[in-house]
Amino acid sequence: MENKKTYHILSLSGGKDSTALAFFMRENMPEIFEKLELVFCDTEHEIPETYDYLNKIEIFLDKKITVIKPQKSFDHLYSILKILPSVNRRWCTPLLKTNVFKTYIKSKAENNALINLYIGIRADEAFRLDSAKQNQTQNIIEKHPFVEFGIIKKDVENILYESGINYPEYYKWRKRSGCYFCFYQSPKDWLNLYKHHPDLYKKAMEYEFKTGDDLKKSRFGWNTKYSLREIIENKALIENSKTQKSNKQYTKNLIELI
Ligand code: SF4
Repeated sequence: MENKKTYHILSLSGGKDSTALAFFMRENMPEIFEKLELVFCDTEHEIPETYDYLNKIEIFLDKKITVIKPQKSFDHLYSILKILPSVNRRWCTPLLKTNVFKTYIKSKAENNALINLYIGIRADEAFRLDSAKQNQTQNIIEKHPFVEFGIIKKDVENILYESGINYPEYYKWRKRSGCYFCFYQSPKDWLNLYKHHPDLYKKAMEYEFKTGDDLKKSRFGWNTKYSLREIIENKALIENSKTQKSNKQYTKNLIELI
């Protein structure tokens, strides 16, 4: 007989897969869903549509989401580190998200409790399983219901439409959840941010200014090649490029501009 206290936790990202998993569990794993805690790590710099979507999830599932936040804010960390996060200096993810989540689940696992952690990896991306098992310990067990039930991308789409929650609004102009200033954005994604949230674009620009006037020389902005100001200045050029990688003329023109 199981004596250990057991927690069931689903980490929501604000994206389609983890959301669909919550709805899938409600329909197919009702006993667990009843005890399931939905947790969202808030960097405090998510796009507004993500916060709206989380509100919608709470209403549709009639379940409160536990929102956890970093101990030290992005602004505080940036003032200490004095460098924007980037692909090679990705300090944001551990300090704003993964460590925060780990600390939270470890605190739950104290006193030998067992944590079942539900992850929205789909059956068609099961190759991610090994690298995804970051939190697994003796007391923390990662579970992958989509892999177990053979749920693929198309099924996720059906779950979202059939439940009525649909995709997050930002999917119309951006494919990823996460921070509005995420450095993984292409110049086109940045322009979409500018179009939908000019205030946030401006805020992201201000972070670049804080790195100093030598941004042009050091290139320690959000984008590895272009400052956000340059992206705006070359809006037409970027919008007209078919694909940034394949359009040699586009690249050539941009290079000439810097
Ligand atoms: S969304 Fe981008 S900027 Fe935000 S924590 Fe993740 S990698 Fe960093």
